[in-house]
Amino acid sequence: MATIAAPTTYQTKILIGDQWRDAVSGKTFPTVNPATEEVIADVAEGDAADIDLAVKAAREAFTSGPWAKMDARDRGALLMKLADLIEANLEELAALESLDNGKPIRDSRAADLPLVVDCLRYYAGWADKIHGQTIPIRGNYFCYTRREPVGVCGQIIPWNFPMLMAAWKWGPALATGNTIVMKPAEQTPLTCLRMAELALEAGIPPGVINVVPGYGPTAGAALVAHPDVDKIAFTGEHHTGKIIMRNAAETLKRLTFELGGKSPNIVFADADLDAAVAGAEFGLFFNQGQCCCAGSRLFVEDSVHDEFVERVVERAKSRVVGNPLDSNTTQGPQVDQAQLDKILGFIEKGKAQGARCLTGGTRAGDQGYFVEPTVFDSVTDEMDIALHEIFGPVMNILRFRDLDEVIERSNRTIFGLAAAVWTSDVTKAHRIAGAVRAGTVWINCYDVFDAAAPFGGFKFSGMGRELGEAGLQAYTEPKTVTMNLG
Ligand code: ADP
Repeated sequence: MATIAAPTTYQTKILIGDQWRDAVSGKTFPTVNPATEEVIADVAEGDAADIDLAVKAAREAFTSGPWAKMDARDRGALLMKLADLIEANLEELAALESLDNGKPIRDSRAADLPLVVDCLRYYAGWADKIHGQTIPIRGNYFCYTRREPVGVCGQIIPWNFPMLMAAWKWGPALATGNTIVMKPAEQTPLTCLRMAELALEAGIPPGVINVVPGYGPTAGAALVAHPDVDKIAFTGEHHTGKIIMRNAAETLKRLTFELGGKSPNIVFADADLDAAVAGAEFGLFFNQGQCCCAGSRLFVEDSVHDEFVERVVERAKSRVVGNPLDSNTTQGPQVDQAQLDKILGFIEKGKAQGARCLTGGTRAGDQGYFVEPTVFDSVTDEMDIALHEIFGPVMNILRFRDLDEVIERSNRTIFGLAAAVWTSDVTKAHRIAGAVRAGTVWINCYDVFDAAAPFGGFKFSGMGRELGEAGLQAYTEPKTVTMNLG
């Protein structure tokens, strides 16, 4: 059967240590099914009081108890066990993710969940391979470095890939021996809470992972300001990143950020056009356009522009918009009313500023936060739809004539998260790869993610990197030990 049943039981409480609790205030907030606008469940609404309890539990687990004494290899084994449990419950978790976030079940099953499992296994493998150096300093000394955990890590994640963002943050933090207080996004708390249940089941000791659902300016801000939190890892909007940076200054926290983007996707006339058209569609419409690295400035070389546009519009029209729990669906709803309104606002600006709307351009239906797959042509660099992150299924096509011009225009943005180039000319490909100021460049592909490959941004797109070996650095403090050998 194409449509699966929605899960009917949910974990909705705050996890502190091994206790599932109501909020100290007793408050709850609703999490909504974006396909129907109906409330799925009321979730405990944590604030500063709950964050304080969670930080105490995380500190205690960090300084005493089994986690603090555990061999690195055993920590790795627990992470591996968590990955196995997630894999064993893949169908249930995929359905829960699609229910709460609205992403098509085919994507939850084939993209989010496998990447979650892979990420945890990748970092499990690192746990016993993190070591320092011996350093031949001047004099009769023995000098070596250790890489120690940072301590209690506050992790604040967005709603676009709820489980995957949790995995990207838990994996390196746990492999290196830290403890965690996570605040999931208020729109999508359910899968993170379920993951935390599985973490306890896997045997990860109480207090190592604490989860406090709640709102950003209350629970999130309390985590950022808490004096006993050593580090904040944040993924979200760059505006929020600025607020967090200011609020973290008082306690001089370590910060890693993965923020927004306005990534150029560049199609040269000599590209394999079938692949480029498919890549342009996937690079923009995947996850309803709710990707920080979405290819939202699609630069197409003049001589293939008309043919390319015609083909990409056909593909946009053939997208199947509908119930996320139906395996035929390729595009679900946006996550909430605020995102829907923001996207429709950008579409109106695009029309008003003279871009040509070739397909879509409206809300789809009148129930759920659906947007028609939308393609704008004749977009120019200074239009709002070319400058700002829309975070929706809105493709913006810009024309270009030559390599130097497209390099200069690609970099005309505050962001620097990702870029892609489609060409059969290796020289052009590597000129672009070197010249574009972005943390990731894809050549003849898009959205290729792997737990082993670092991801993060230049400029306003972030600080530090997640994934790969680089992702571990941000969770360790190097310590230099020098001994007098007499
Ligand atoms: P979006 O607009 O995509 O929801 P945000 O940056 O607002 O992106 O949200 C990402 C995460 O940051 C969410 O978990 C949200 O609750 C949290 N957040 C929002 N504002 C703050 C804040 N002032 N301090 C800490 N966290 C925040």
